[in-house]
Amino acid sequence: MNRQSLINTIKQNFMLKRLRAQEENDAFISALRKDPDFDGLYKEYTAKQLEYAKTKFIEEDVALRHACEDLRQQMESYLTNHKMDKSLLYPQYSCKICNDTGVVGGRICSCFLGELNKKISTMTSSQTSFKSFDVCDNSIMNEDDKKACKWLKTWCLTYPNTTKTNINILGGAGTGKTFFLECIANEMIAKNLSVCFKTAFELNELARLYHIGKSYEFGDILKVDILLIDDLGTEPILNNVTKEYLYNLINVRQINHLPTIISTNLSLDNILSRYDERIFSRLANKNLSTNIILTSQDKRLNN
Ligand SMILES: [Zn+2]
Repeated sequence: MNRQSLINTIKQNFMLKRLRAQEENDAFISALRKDPDFDGLYKEYTAKQLEYAKTKFIEEDVALRHACEDLRQQMESYLTNHKMDKSLLYPQYSCKICNDTGVVGGRICSCFLGELNKKISTMTSSQTSFKSFDVCDNSIMNEDDKKACKWLKTWCLTYPNTTKTNINILGGAGTGKTFFLECIANEMIAKNLSVCFKTAFELNELARLYHIGKSYEFGDILKVDILLIDDLGTEPILNNVTKEYLYNLINVRQINHLPTIISTNLSLDNILSRYDERIFSRLANKNLSTNIILTSQDKRLNN
């Protein structure tokens, strides 16, 4: 599914959401109108509203507007007097900013963007729920790792006002690289950004499929807000695919200031020898990249 059809699907969902809220409100009002007191107010209000609507565009009848307003307040008071929330007089839209239209002041509402990014993240990630910094266990981290954790947390909080767009999390097996990658994914999803979390193995396979024209998902991954690649170096090197697509991915994302965060067992020297100078120079670019080196012993063995 491409971005435009995703947008169309969400638009439809929003329309349905609005309709449902309006139907629920209609049903609620109908029930209230069984009481003649409320029904009288309601009839008078709708009649005056109609009258007001007719004159509004010719010459506004201010007295009529005040009469409508007064009746509306009387209906609200009716609800309050009957121990009901007065806001129930109106449809209960889930977004109070855009009333579930998805648009506010000619711009896309943040609720719509959030929905879109959630869909993109679900579509492109192999997993969709992630661990969070809240469950970070300081007792199993040494001082270096605590510093690393703090740096990553701050980066997440500060983003997008950060200069570094590439983070390389380096360390041996069980040092918590994947854990930190997940924490970053979690924070970025909370910021309503589109997030793609892939193992290097999966990414390599998508590059291969793209290369032979069997899947275009790789193209979406180029454009997600945040890309996280787990375990770089565990994927097989495929001719004309692995190095070429990885370089392209990192390069294009760097040019567009889109963060790519990598975890790997490899050292920077290993990266240089396994891939090539071009990939290395992008990943090790001092201005745009940071290396986080985790040194705690294998946490899985300590458990
Ligand atoms: Zn909204």
